[in-house]
Amino acid sequence: MTLVTIEFPDIPEHKGFAAPVLPNGELAPTASAFTRTFVGYQATCSCGWTDRRRHPATPEGAKEAEYRWASVHATALLAAAPPSELVIKSNLLCERVVKLAGERPLAALTLLSQIESWQRTLLDQAVAGARQGGASWSEVGEAMGISKQAAHERFRATAEL
Ligand SMILES: [Zn+2]
Repeated sequence: MTLVTIEFPDIPEHKGFAAPVLPNGELAPTASAFTRTFVGYQATCSCGWTDRRRHPATPEGAKEAEYRWASVHATALLAAAPPSELVIKSNLLCERVVKLAGERPLAALTLLSQIESWQRTLLDQAVAGARQGGASWSEVGEAMGISKQAAHERFRATAEL
């Protein structure tokens, strides 16, 4: 029996799997623990997330646990994960602008001003769209890597127009 992990390209740091539950209620920490008796499966993620629901110690139970990882944990993460191909393009653009700034700083300045002008507008629109779609300030902050309070203070005015 091998430990099967499931993952989506847009959230590469999350690998889900059906963790065997040992008789004492703890989750088997490694695949080698499969040789021991286990009493069920629980959905678990490489990030440390663990589902509370326990599934039967059968191949079907393992499939149910994997499905729980995808439907409960991964779905929420995917909602806030940009498509990986856009992340790659964004990183590439950043690298190119860094190079340009070293070679022709005035050209980099012109380009960065252009980016700033559409980036600000799009950021306001994205926050307003997320709020209208039911996202909390906490979710908005998390998506941006800032606190709930910082997100609320910064966008309160524009998001509630
Ligand atoms: Zn995770």
